[in-house]
Amino acid sequence: MAITVAHHRRSASGEPAHEASDLRAALQAAIGELKAIAAEADTDAAEMIEFQIAMLADDELSAPAFAAIDARVPADTAWRTALDHEIEGYQSAADEYFQARAADMLDLRDRVLAQLTGDTLSVAQTAGAILVADDLPPSRFLAIDWSAGGALVLTAGSPTSHVAMLARARGVPMVVGLGVPVAELRGHALLDAARGVLILDPGTASEQAFRQWRDVELALLAQVEQASTGPCASADGEAVALLLNVADPGELDTLDPARFDGIGLVRTEFLFHADGGLPDEDTQYRAYRRIAEWAAGKPVTIRTLDAGGDKPIPGITIDTEANPFLGVRGLRLSFARPDVFRIQLRALARAAMHGNVKVMLPMVTVPHDVDQARGLLEDEVAALAAAGVPARLPALGIMIEVPAAAIAADLFRADFFSIGSNDLLQYVAAAGRDAGELAALAEAALPAMLRLVDHVVRVARERGIEVSLCGDAAGDPQLIPQLLATGLRALSMAAPRAGRARVAIATTRIGA
Ligand code: PEP
Ligand code: MG
Repeated sequence: MAITVAHHRRSASGEPAHEASDLRAALQAAIGELKAIAAEADTDAAEMIEFQIAMLADDELSAPAFAAIDARVPADTAWRTALDHEIEGYQSAADEYFQARAADMLDLRDRVLAQLTGDTLSVAQTAGAILVADDLPPSRFLAIDWSAGGALVLTAGSPTSHVAMLARARGVPMVVGLGVPVAELRGHALLDAARGVLILDPGTASEQAFRQWRDVELALLAQVEQASTGPCASADGEAVALLLNVADPGELDTLDPARFDGIGLVRTEFLFHADGGLPDEDTQYRAYRRIAEWAAGKPVTIRTLDAGGDKPIPGITIDTEANPFLGVRGLRLSFARPDVFRIQLRALARAAMHGNVKVMLPMVTVPHDVDQARGLLEDEVAALAAAGVPARLPALGIMIEVPAAAIAADLFRADFFSIGSNDLLQYVAAAGRDAGELAALAEAALPAMLRLVDHVVRVARERGIEVSLCGDAAGDPQLIPQLLATGLRALSMAAPRAGRARVAIATTRIGA
């Protein structure tokens, strides 16, 4: 399967005014195309496309092209040159977040060019085939019918790119950063995305071995599907709570609550990314209530806004920070914006009337953080009561994701702990979670992080409070035995990871 661009030549008019008007029309048409894709997409994907639409609508992006047109450069050459320059800037950015956006810019370049030249951007697709490309923008990923099977190999790309997030959420097998020219990746191939291996022109023996391995995997998955509800326990009968991470309430529409023991983490950032500015109290209340009602009495842990770091939110986060991961993010930002924080606390206290809602604070660093947040929460509950608005004081717990909180966990007046292994690992290893080239280093630092997990679990047990883990490690079948060995008995993960995690738990003998 390959991406094809049919090239048609465009004859330039030689008239700057005409060329400029052609470029304007092409920009509008490309925006229209993207809007149509966004309208069909779910919230997460639509947000990514909205980002592209905003870029395309930004006059700053097209200004160099229009300036070149004024100097009698044809519209297509002017646009290509301007965008190539822009793309180069993204590709050479030190920050991996910006590097990962280069594919989105390439897509904008090609979409507008296609409009100008009459080219067609299409993906020739064969069911079950492996699509190979240097990188792939979200809009083209969404244009492919993955229900027919298939997989994706990107020779460049990054695990934090938009397309990687989409592939993960949809269960499309994908390998990024293969580092081999696309032209060399042709013919018959086998892809083992779980281990990041692509076998080109496999011989009969490796094909047979691969098929056997795949059959075992498929049988395992079928077993998982059948036994995906009911209590989850280790091989020696220790009960383990399997909790769900939610980043977009739309995910719940197709999920059976019986598969989970509750929701261990709701990332509320989704509300703050929507168009139309900051969400008001009622909008938030309705969203939290809907999630609580889905869980029908099972615990639902909703985290207060965790903006900043790798999650910038226009109008809230400080975009001039030199080091956003060590900056004003999470709870620090909520304290800096009490107007925003208080509204969220009120909405949460009201939603707590409709289920077993708990509130969790991100990026807690020192004990005073919890006391200050608790004071604000109590004030808002009292204000709601005084106004006759039904509300309840929910349990208030903390993410343990900053080493200071892990080391001194016993000092925090929290009702529960949830370990954020994504941030905890990056801070323990001093290796950014978005730094792909340091991924192996961070992985090698896992034993150090596990010592902190061990300590936090011990403190929680001594204090008699609940402790879970809600970072990506919770859904990693290879790490699950080590997590259970620390005494953890509650793991919270994204829905697509729950099946394999259940099997990993069921096949682990804890021997406690
Ligand atoms: C974590 O840091 O492990 C976590 C769960 O939070 P997030 O990934 O949203 O930062
Ligand atoms: Mg975190």
